Amino acid sequence: MHPLSAEDIALVAPIDPDRMLARTQAWAAINSGTGNLAGLAQVAEALADTFAELPGEVSLCDPDPVTAIDTDGREVAQENGRHLVLSVRPEAERRVLLTGHMDTVYPPEHPFQDLRWLDDETLNGPGTADMKGGLAVICEALLALEQSPAACNLGYDVLINSDEETGSLSSAPLIARLAQGKYAALTYEPAALPDGTLAHSRGGSGNYAVVFTGRSAHAGRNPEDGRNALVAAADCAVRLKALQHADLPVNPAKIEGGAANNIVPDHAVLRFNIRPKTLAAADSFASTFKALLSDLEVRHEVTASPHGGISRPPKPVDARAQRLFDLVRKIEAASGRDTRWQPSGGVCDGNNIAALGVPVVDTMGVRGGAIHSPHEYLIVPSLQERAALSTLVLNRLAEGALS
Ligand SMILES: [Zn+2]
Repeated sequence: MHPLSAEDIALVAPIDPDRMLARTQAWAAINSGTGNLAGLAQVAEALADTFAELPGEVSLCDPDPVTAIDTDGREVAQENGRHLVLSVRPEAERRVLLTGHMDTVYPPEHPFQDLRWLDDETLNGPGTADMKGGLAVICEALLALEQSPAACNLGYDVLINSDEETGSLSSAPLIARLAQGKYAALTYEPAALPDGTLAHSRGGSGNYAVVFTGRSAHAGRNPEDGRNALVAAADCAVRLKALQHADLPVNPAKIEGGAANNIVPDHAVLRFNIRPKTLAAADSFASTFKALLSDLEVRHEVTASPHGGISRPPKPVDARAQRLFDLVRKIEAASGRDTRWQPSGGVCDGNNIAALGVPVVDTMGVRGGAIHSPHEYLIVPSLQERAALSTLVLNRLAEGALS
């Protein structure tokens, strides 16, 4: 394998690991749990200031309206933060999309809020790996790319959404719009393993709530007049679980509703998640689910109103996406690192980008681990490694590496 050329070495020379670390620390110190609108606004401002160092236009876009089903089965509005978009050289013929998210899974009342060094190279803190470190990598890689003579051939959009951890429901239309017609995309989720292993194909994910409405009656005086919504919900849970197969894990997660012991309950909400591994499994579930609800309505004489759906389509790796993976591996090999990848059961915005036929590697962020837990950590030297990798990948894309 050829080592990096003198040009490549010069290209990554401006990358400043101290600046990336300082930015990661500053952003991770601000709580930006998906529901913390004030914290998200504060992080968005800080990010907008930083990304303004790049050419192009930074804007903060309003979230699309999103609703959820509350415990009483009512559809209620769900608030989200604004999403940051940076658009550079929109007129360029070859354009790429880089995506990250500013939200974390830790609400302000969560005990995990502070940064702590575990050793010289390991920083424990909320969002350090997932993915404020990755956001610092995006900015640094683009600043370095802008020094390259090839940069003028490449336009790009950067999207940093505020709702990735809850499924990107308020940013999905924006992701779809920005991904349209892109040559390739890079998403900055942390590496799948602390050694840098990338996530390759991914299954999909769908979240649902079904609101069952029956008729209440006295449990002793006239139970025959009642239509038990809770029993219908329980029947639904059992029958959904029976639909599970190798390509379709199904998880009935929660039933809410019911009333006092002497009342036939007239409402219940069943929540469940599916993880279709293939597009065929996702499609066939949609029709089976519809038939199942009709059958439950007849059998239990209730109404069953579904809400939600597949928000993350399954992500297969097609030939063009594989070429992007191969490009990453080649650059890593030239840098003296051996890159592996493996399928992932997790989902991210890479699922939605791939669904539009755009090749994407979605674990271009830092190395670290224990994400979504108080043990989350960032392996600090990976900031430099990953920024250099991205700079070189972007430079090759600017030269038309996938054409
Ligand atoms: Zn993430």
